Amino acid sequence: KDSHPRYKRILLKLSGEALSGEQGFGIDPKVLDRMALEIGQLVGIGVQVGLVIGGGNLFRGKSLHEAGLDRVTGDHMGMLATVMNALAMRDALERSNIRSRVMSAIPMSGIVEHYDRRSAIRYLTQGDVVIFSAGTGNPFFTTDSAACLRGIEVEAEVVLKATNVDGVYSDDPRTNPDAVKYDRLTYNEALEKQLGVMDLTAVCLVRDHNMPVRVFNMNKPGALVSLMVGGNEGTLMVE
Ligand code: UDP
Repeated sequence: KDSHPRYKRILLKLSGEALSGEQGFGIDPKVLDRMALEIGQLVGIGVQVGLVIGGGNLFRGKSLHEAGLDRVTGDHMGMLATVMNALAMRDALERSNIRSRVMSAIPMSGIVEHYDRRSAIRYLTQGDVVIFSAGTGNPFFTTDSAACLRGIEVEAEVVLKATNVDGVYSDDPRTNPDAVKYDRLTYNEALEKQLGVMDLTAVCLVRDHNMPVRVFNMNKPGALVSLMVGGNEGTLMVE
């Protein structure tokens, strides 16, 4: 099998829940190690990996707000949660001898580097995994938007959104047996049909900058590497 990667640089988005394993909350070290190994395989075949991890396994601004907290405070807590996930992921990567850096959109001297686009590109070029944490640094945004923003900024060729389902469906496949999976989708279809690929802010951003997004199931072992060598898992969203 030809292992020459299809992409030179990617932006991978993992939801916070992707780190929580069975229990649905917190960080499961076993899951973390598996993710780290999958990411390491990409580095091994020469792919430059930028990573954005969500924070939903710890805190979400919206849920905190529904429970009575101020929304902006909740979003700040959510962004801090993404930094914790990023630290855990860096730890797992380093334990597997995969060089990695964490950058934060919010300055956090002594813990992680402040995000700087040019440094990020330099690290990526060196082959370091760069974890972009603290989302966009602003409340009312999501880490999907952060992933699209950073992907565009560092000139990744694709944003890969890892989920628990096989791609984007016309309806919820868990409740509607007639739901069909899209192999390919335009930005406008995603917006018009409100398919919930990502939040609308994120879809508009990738549409305006023509950044392809692939939604795929990361629970399938080897899915990431397969995508790098020509596999077509999941749903590709393009112009
Ligand atoms: N968040 C934010 N601004 C951002 C990114 C994230 O305020 O640019 C907050 C928001 O409260 C969000 C939380 O961080 O709910 C965790 O991110 P997200 O919900 O996107 O995580 P995921 O669902 O991917 O685990």
